[in-house]
Amino acid sequence: MSRPLFYPHGARIAVLTQEVVGVLDYLAPEGGVRLGQLVVVPLGPRRVMGAVWGQGMGDFDMAKLRPVARLIDAPPLAPEMIEFLTRMGEYTLTPLPSMLRMATRAPDLDQPPSARRIIHRAGPPPDRMTDARAAVLRVIEDHGGAGFAPGELAQLAGVTGSVVQGLVKAGTLAETLAPRDTPYPRLDPDLPGKPLAPDQGEAAGQLRDALKTRRYGTTLLRGVTGSGKTEVYLEAVAECLRQGRQALVLLPEIALSSEFLSRVEARFGARPGEWHSGITRTERRRLWTMAAQHHVGMVVGARSALFLPFADLGLIVVDEEHDSSYKQEDVVFYSARDMAVLRASIAGAQVVLASATPSVESWVNAGAGKYARIDLRSRYGTAELPEMGAIDLRESEMEKGRWISPRLAAEIRARKGRGEQSLLFLNRRGYAPITACRACGQQVGCDQCDARMVEHRFQNRLVCHQCGETKPIPVACPSCGVEGRMTAIGPGVERLAEEVAERFPDARATVLSSDLFHSARALKEAIAQISAGETDIIIGTQIVAKGHNFPRLTLVGVIDADLGLQGADMRAAERSFQLMRQVAGRAGREGGDARGLALLQTHQPAHPVIRAILSGEDEAFWDAEAVQRQQAGMPPFGRLAGIILSHPDQSAVENHAREMARRADPLHQIGAELWGPAPAPIARVRGRYRVRMLIRAPRQAPVQTAISRWLALAPKPPSNLRLSVDIDPQGF
Ligand code: ADP
Ligand code: ZN
Repeated sequence: MSRPLFYPHGARIAVLTQEVVGVLDYLAPEGGVRLGQLVVVPLGPRRVMGAVWGQGMGDFDMAKLRPVARLIDAPPLAPEMIEFLTRMGEYTLTPLPSMLRMATRAPDLDQPPSARRIIHRAGPPPDRMTDARAAVLRVIEDHGGAGFAPGELAQLAGVTGSVVQGLVKAGTLAETLAPRDTPYPRLDPDLPGKPLAPDQGEAAGQLRDALKTRRYGTTLLRGVTGSGKTEVYLEAVAECLRQGRQALVLLPEIALSSEFLSRVEARFGARPGEWHSGITRTERRRLWTMAAQHHVGMVVGARSALFLPFADLGLIVVDEEHDSSYKQEDVVFYSARDMAVLRASIAGAQVVLASATPSVESWVNAGAGKYARIDLRSRYGTAELPEMGAIDLRESEMEKGRWISPRLAAEIRARKGRGEQSLLFLNRRGYAPITACRACGQQVGCDQCDARMVEHRFQNRLVCHQCGETKPIPVACPSCGVEGRMTAIGPGVERLAEEVAERFPDARATVLSSDLFHSARALKEAIAQISAGETDIIIGTQIVAKGHNFPRLTLVGVIDADLGLQGADMRAAERSFQLMRQVAGRAGREGGDARGLALLQTHQPAHPVIRAILSGEDEAFWDAEAVQRQQAGMPPFGRLAGIILSHPDQSAVENHAREMARRADPLHQIGAELWGPAPAPIARVRGRYRVRMLIRAPRQAPVQTAISRWLALAPKPPSNLRLSVDIDPQGF
């Protein structure tokens, strides 16, 4: 990097505030400041956090500049991090302050630091006792031997700091690091791993070779469920650790990662750093600092771990890379998978995208040679992929109000008899998706959103899945007033559980649905109980599809395989395919005598998605999806961006959007099309009307620049209008 890293006089500071877009000049404190140094600066009457982003302009009037208020006691952001935040901000059209917040807010760096070192009693009294020393020991005695910050102890005893240090030298007291500064235990890459199967060994070798280049590269590690992808990428982590570089593993459901953490511990002899919303602030600050100081070798985290200030990042693994939870659609709209690739390309690191069901984007990128690709085609060991079957609901004799077909019921019964587990998958939370009046036909909707209210019988409430609003289940119809005719239509997991209880009264059943668990711990415990065989029938929403190993599970029944096949969204087919393949993949993972069986209940056995799932021709499915995307000019063959505008007043937001659409020259100039404005897929949420526009552009077009120019042409927005830009939106 050619720019200087140290500024003795003036500095440009990226300031962490809503109002300021970009950077402001400040006077450096005596002694100057470094690039990336975190600081507190005055801004109007307030003090805000910022980061040194470059040298001051040089021609400013030094007398007019306000000085930096103080330096924050934290490692400075590395030039690499500054480049990452800048480029990600440009890509996602996010103002710099919001980007900086992503990288610095979680650990509360601007809070005064807690004690770094702790003094406590460690040995016998010193040979040479003085009044001052005795005073110090009395204070410790008075406080029951508790630990103190060094300054605090000296102050309480009324002595100077050197007295305390003297006692430390004498061995009477000891100084240890406070947790925030304790390095993480070293992981040992050379402990013996599990002996790998031949295809695993080859895959691991390929990833090791890629790491040895010490350059950027991305590999799509595609392997069927249970093929042992985790063991393979742990070998890549081992190589990275051997090189003395840091490794980051992103998981989609980090709260459920305890099994993964145990596997890491078994492989490397110690636990990695953990980063997700469930860890304490002290721990967050510790991990942030240790990442910057290279005192943590491996971090396992949720998508936001991408913003940790690693000193020397050598590898990023994105496990279940297709998972939609990697997309953040709030404040900063970004895909952690795509930004992992950006971060790695800046850091000279390798990326491994692991999945049994890759996104069409990654599949196409691998096909085009942008990514390397590794395939693991069979399950590890004796386990075979489950046998797949369809149950044609048009020909099944379903009893009224029942959702489990006779064939599926018979299979469940047989499993129960052999002490094996069955999983019934239905991706619908609650009791019933629709509550309607049998007198007038009206359905109960949310007052604030364009959405139906969903009955949750365990809570005895109707719940809006958009805004979370709840109301009692009405006795009289809100529309026609007739009493006693409200009825639940269609199944949710709770209703399915009711059917299971009626039809299999001696079976132990567990419902797994995110709304039924109040903490990650409770969910973890439920999963541990299932793994231990303490249940016969699992009834679950999509949370059961993700990565769990249930050794006794040999049957998966998809209650409604047609759910999600329809819909205007280009991704509908891809999503249902991924979900069904993943959930079917839970069956028969242990091998042994019992091969797994997955049964899809469907009205459309000839639908391309159902046929692909049944035949196991996944590659043909992705190829066909890719062709469709290409023909439609959709990602990754074209660029797409979504603009969502919302306002409490419907005509205000519609008018504004139409005005914007009329001035779309900057978009047309790059060959982009503007679609809409049209009501967003959910046209009203929390009382705000939502309008969407979509921009489709050729692949190489400078979309971000064109959008910025276009937004600058927009007329003055009505107050309270919210506008967000989503580059590479999920739904389209
Ligand atoms: P995937 O991530 O591809 O679904 P996993 O890595 O979870 O697969 O492996 C599936 C199962 O096989 C796990 O129980 C794992 O412990 C086991 N396994 C995979 N590879 C090996 C190996 N080389 N030696 C022993 N067990 C293995
Ligand atoms: Zn609502």
